[in-house]
Amino acid sequence: MPPVVSFDPLLQADGAFFDGIAEQALDPMLTLLAQLRTDTRPDKIDLGIGVYRDEAGKTPVMVSVKAAEDLLVRHQPSKDYVSPEGDPGFLRHLAPIVLGETHAADQRIAGIQTPGGTGALRLAASLIARANPKARVWLGQPTWAPHAGLMQAGGLETIDYPFFDRATQAVLFDDMLRALEGATAGDVVLLHGCCHNPTGAELTVAQWTAVTDLIQRKGLLPLVDIAYQGLGRGLDEDAAGLRALLTAVPEAMVCVSGSKNFGLYRDRIGAIWIKASSADAAHRARNGLMIAARSMWSMPPDHGASVVRTILESPELTTLWRGEVETMRLRLHSVRERLAAALPAIAGVARQTGMFTLLPLPAGAATALRVERGIYLMDNGRINIAGLRDAVLPRFADAIRPYLP
Ligand code: PLP
Repeated sequence: MPPVVSFDPLLQADGAFFDGIAEQALDPMLTLLAQLRTDTRPDKIDLGIGVYRDEAGKTPVMVSVKAAEDLLVRHQPSKDYVSPEGDPGFLRHLAPIVLGETHAADQRIAGIQTPGGTGALRLAASLIARANPKARVWLGQPTWAPHAGLMQAGGLETIDYPFFDRATQAVLFDDMLRALEGATAGDVVLLHGCCHNPTGAELTVAQWTAVTDLIQRKGLLPLVDIAYQGLGRGLDEDAAGLRALLTAVPEAMVCVSGSKNFGLYRDRIGAIWIKASSADAAHRARNGLMIAARSMWSMPPDHGASVVRTILESPELTTLWRGEVETMRLRLHSVRERLAAALPAIAGVARQTGMFTLLPLPAGAATALRVERGIYLMDNGRINIAGLRDAVLPRFADAIRPYLP
């Protein structure tokens, strides 16, 4: 006899299964994207989603990536599953680039491949919750919008700390340290490794040292999210704060995205590394990550990892890739300089790094710019610097000038 399937009588009495799901607003970025796609104005300017664009406004596949893909098409032996840890060659080659040679060789550091930086952050939340369910995750404000949801999805409480003042365009470092004094041992502090999203503001070397001291003194766990390595000051320079922190602290988590610096957005490539107090603890933490991954996506997608591994296995392709990252970096920097020259009220934009800046716009300005001028930016004033081609920068500057202080 097949088992009898019974339904909760309450559900049956109240109506269909999904009727109880309340209408929820989409992530503001998704709403903006939908509006952009239906806007038929040919001169619309897209400064919304965080995707690199070249001077032609395009996001082409990187030449090094295409070359690696050609090799893969010809030589990939199988489409068999990868394991929950992902591609070991990808991890082995990426580790020195992110962590530096010394940390990459440290047996107390272990990692696995993830679907994007997002997957890494979601796994981090699961492992934190398993190690210390009472841990609260401290998030600088403002931060990348999904951070809070990703931590909460792992069952963790999040607490905000001040990070950036939009009006003065300054890092609120004293306020940040004061707030973090309220954290208790076992809490987690999320830091952006470089190229802060959405502000473009960075911690100085001295500030990294001060926050590292606080983390150690209070027994906190640092979680560094590094999604834009190479697009700020250079591949090594952008990881300097992270590497110094890893040298100083006994335990840490590092979440990496390969979406931007390999241009592999849709291939969902990232990694997570844990620094634990011993090689044995690192091994157990890594198993914990794999168990958590198994119940979420089971095995990570392969293509992005195979591309990154193929590039990094080849000295020629690695040189090509480094050059392409540098080209992106220099373009972002030059757009920042041109924007600062056009708008002295936000001259500080030239000292910021990476893909974003948070414009000090009054409430309603983003909507007005979108509706009246076809300029798409986030409601909080975040713009993607890479969207400002020479052809559109003067028009953009003229449009926002009246709104600036
Ligand atoms: N962290 C930050 C700060 C980001 O801006 C992003 C993407 O925009 C990510 C993580 C995750 O990137 P992805 O999941 O696309 O690799």
